[in-house]
Amino acid sequence: MDKNVLVQEIIRLKKEKNAVILAHYYQNEDIQEIADFIGDSLELSKKAQTTSADIIVFAGVHFMAETAKILNPNKKVLVPDWEAGCSLADGCDPKDFKTFKDQYPDHVVVTYINCSAEIKAMSDLVCTSANAKKIIGSIPLNQKIIFAPDQNLGNYLQKETNREFVLWKGSCVVHEAFSLDKLIDLYKKNPTAKIAAHPESESQILKIAHYIGSTSGIINFIKTDPTAVFIVATEAGILHELAKAVPDKTLIPAPTTEDNTCACSECAFMKMNTLEKLYWCLKNESPEIIIQEQLRIDALKPIEKMLQLS
Ligand code: SF4
Repeated sequence: MDKNVLVQEIIRLKKEKNAVILAHYYQNEDIQEIADFIGDSLELSKKAQTTSADIIVFAGVHFMAETAKILNPNKKVLVPDWEAGCSLADGCDPKDFKTFKDQYPDHVVVTYINCSAEIKAMSDLVCTSANAKKIIGSIPLNQKIIFAPDQNLGNYLQKETNREFVLWKGSCVVHEAFSLDKLIDLYKKNPTAKIAAHPESESQILKIAHYIGSTSGIINFIKTDPTAVFIVATEAGILHELAKAVPDKTLIPAPTTEDNTCACSECAFMKMNTLEKLYWCLKNESPEIIIQEQLRIDALKPIEKMLQLS
């Protein structure tokens, strides 16, 4: 189908079915353009909780749509591509995590939102990269902590909060792909630039960053800092929204170890969603996220605590 026809059809179906499209910053530009809201995982969770639409089309990855369903059991939550996963969520198997957790019975479990409903249900608190320091800060200093599933974010938080965690050794394939050597070379060619990095990146990248923060944190930093050139070490999808917001600034994606066509870092899972798949999922109201009710209730508790604390 022609792109313009697809866009018109999606708009028509959205109206007809009282649907809302929530899109993560890492989505393709076409999807960002048609979305009702664009945000990071925390912003989208909040938006999912307050929407009056009957159908939520979640253009992101599976765990994000699952979080929207946990928060909105009475709404139909659809995903354009069922296979759009996440290396962090998929690398934390519930059975293995239970065995791991059982070794530390006196620890509270804090999990990054990038995990399945089963892992959330085994957690005391959930966090995002935007509120993680605040969530850790709410836990008494003498309380031992398990942090999962992102070891890079966990390592960063240990340094920032001056505490020690037991870490689950998961990682994001996208944020681990940045090349330190290429980044240093790029910086030497742009010595006035500032490097902004997401804390899912490895410690050697974070060490040379001028700013470390969540997706929305990076966006706000680049919007408000007077610097003219930024090297951005996170998924390249955020550059689309940013370029519109700061047209006078130069935004350079941080280089990856592998040479790829755009010389930047893109999440293959996020990019599985297309305009065409979005159209079909809205038309057929499928694939739909379904969560067994007890699991939903158990997974909701640590998310609600997070939302109260943030
Ligand atoms: S960028 Fe990384 S953490 Fe985000 S969805 Fe992709 S694999 Fe998961």
